[in-house]
Amino acid sequence: MPIPLPVLVRIAVTAALCAHAFFVYTTARCLARTFGFDVGVLLLGIVVTTVMMIPFIWVYWIVDLPDIWQKHLRPIRRWRSNRCPGCGYSRTGAASAVCPECGVTWTEPPPYRVGWPTVKRFTIIVLIALTIGTAAGEMRILLDERAFLREAESAPDGVAARPRGWPNGGHWLFHDPLQGPIAGDRSWGASTVVPMPYQPHRDAHDSHPQAPSEDHGE
Ligand SMILES: [Zn+2]
Repeated sequence: MPIPLPVLVRIAVTAALCAHAFFVYTTARCLARTFGFDVGVLLLGIVVTTVMMIPFIWVYWIVDLPDIWQKHLRPIRRWRSNRCPGCGYSRTGAASAVCPECGVTWTEPPPYRVGWPTVKRFTIIVLIALTIGTAAGEMRILLDERAFLREAESAPDGVAARPRGWPNGGHWLFHDPLQGPIAGDRSWGASTVVPMPYQPHRDAHDSHPQAPSEDHGE
């Protein structure tokens, strides 16, 4: 059984907004530069994602597109060209007010108006998208961070650095045995490109007392 067009449109809109929420949430989560789950960051990410959903409010009527066409635009067009709003059967010379073809009573179709059902429908879609998008985003990052920890553990000296997984390759993860895991970005430290193998932050800035330094000769 084919899925009705209005349902398909709602699924498509939900999927698009889910993807939007996913990208916004993961970006916000990476910009917070925290490693591991943090309730504060989660709440902040949800707030940012909700705010970034606002630009899409003006397309709330998109979920009604099939209804707008099937129940309003097409019937009105048929009515104006003196045809049955339901099936397009010609009304010219007809005596009855009921369509002999499809049985629809011939009255002028009402224009499309935004009502509470539309608003409610769109609000539900946005809430679903926010929930799935942020949950999937947090999950994606947590799994990537877990994989990174495993990589750092298996590294011979416990030192590791690599970009976060898709879609946050612009943000980096670092690990050394003393500081543990750190979240940052490519400009973290002194250079824009992280040296491989990764040099821990304090050494790069000559601030560690035990770090050998050529600038601080005793
Ligand atoms: Zn008809």
